[in-house]
Amino acid sequence: MKVLGLLKENAGVNVVALTPDNVKHLSEHYTVIVESGAGVLAGFTDEAYGLAGAEIESDRALLLKKSSLLITLSSKINFSGIEKHKTVIGGYGVLDELESILQFTNNPIDFFSLSLLPRITKAQSMDILSSLAALSGYQAVVHGFDKSMVVSPMISSAGGTLYPAKVLVLGAGVAGLQAIATARRLGAVVTAFDIRKQTKTEVESLGADFIEVMGAVEDESSGGYAIEQDENFMTKVIDSIALQAKDADLIITTARIPGKKAPKLITADMLKRMKPGSIVIDMAADTGGNCEFSENNKTVLKDGVFLLGESTIYNRVARSASILLGNNMTTFIHHFRSNEDLTFQDEILAATLVTRNGKIVHEKICAEVN
Ligand code: NAD
Repeated sequence: MKVLGLLKENAGVNVVALTPDNVKHLSEHYTVIVESGAGVLAGFTDEAYGLAGAEIESDRALLLKKSSLLITLSSKINFSGIEKHKTVIGGYGVLDELESILQFTNNPIDFFSLSLLPRITKAQSMDILSSLAALSGYQAVVHGFDKSMVVSPMISSAGGTLYPAKVLVLGAGVAGLQAIATARRLGAVVTAFDIRKQTKTEVESLGADFIEVMGAVEDESSGGYAIEQDENFMTKVIDSIALQAKDADLIITTARIPGKKAPKLITADMLKRMKPGSIVIDMAADTGGNCEFSENNKTVLKDGVFLLGESTIYNRVARSASILLGNNMTTFIHHFRSNEDLTFQDEILAATLVTRNGKIVHEKICAEVN
C-alpha cells in the first residue's frame, strides 16, 4: 500500500487537514502516518489517530521520507532535500502566496492545491474554500458581538428597550452570506453590499437590505469571481457604504479578488464618522485588507473603532473547521486515487495541479510567476 503522511501545520494554524474519522476511511487504501501533535489544536489527540489506524511519527524528516503522498493545509513546510518523487496535496491560497509554491520547483514534487478547485457541482464536496468561508462568516459575527459593547437582538426589559444592533456586511460571497444569516438569526438589522449583481436576491432572501450601486463590470470568464473595478465606480461604492457605516455597530468585510489586493471599502473618513466602540472584522486582512488600517491577526484601535484583522477566523473553531476540511480533503484524495493516471484529462485534477515533477504546469500560475 502507498504511504500517506499527514503533516502538522506551522504555528498559528490550529486546524488539521484530516481528522481521525477521515484516517479510518483512508486506511483502507493507504498506510497512514500522522505527524505527532498534528491534530492537537483541533481537539484530536495522537491516541485518536492511533486508534483510527495511523502510525504516529514525531520525526518530520522521517515522515517526509517514508510517505509518497503528503497532506497539508496551509503551512509552508520545508520540503527541501526530497530525493524521490512525491505528491503533495495542500490547500495553499497559491494565487495570493506565490512564493510558497516556488519551493516545489526545486524538488521532484507533484503539487495539487485545493484552492484552485473549479467551482463546479462535481467538485462541491471537495471545496475547502467554501467550507472555511462558511465557518468564517458565522464566526465573524459571533466573535464580533463577543467583542462588541452592544447586544445583537432587540431586548425589552425592566430597564427599557434595547433596539437591534446594526450589522453591515461587505462582500456577499460564501462568507458574507453566512455572516448575514448568522447576524439575522441573532436578531440584528443587516445591510450588505457586493459588486456582483446576482448577490442582491441572495442577500434579500436572507432578510437583509442590499446597497445597490449600478455600473460594476463583471467578467463571465472569471468563474463567478469578482474583478477589479475602475476608480469612478469605486468612488460611488465608497459614498454608498459611508451612509451605512456611520450607524453600524459591527462591520464584517469579506471582499476579495483572487490574486489581487483586497478592494478598499472602509476609508479613514468613514472611521472618523463611525460610533466609538464599534467593530470592524476585516476578513481580507491577509491581502491588504478591506479597511485602510487593519492588520492581519492584530487589533488596531483607530478613531475609537476596533479593527480586527481576521483572515483565518475559522482557526477559532478549529475542530468544526477540521471536520469540514477533512471531509473535503478525503473526497479529493479518493478522486486523486481513482483518476491519478488521467491527471491531465480529469477536469478537477488538471485544474488543481500546480507542479508536475517540480515544473510549474498550471497556466495561470506560470503566467503570474514569469
Ligand atoms: P471571494 O471570497 O472570492 O470574494 C468574496 C466576495 O467579495 C465575492 O462575493 C465578491 O463578489 C466580493 N467582492 C469583490 N470585490 C468587491 C468589492 N469591490 N466590493 C464588494 N464586494 C466585492 O468569493 P467566494 O465566496 O469564494 O465566491 C466566489 C464565487 O464562487 C461566487 O460566484 C460564488 O457563488 C461561487 N461559488 C460557487 C460554488 C460552486 O458552484 N461549487 C461554491 C462556492 C462559491
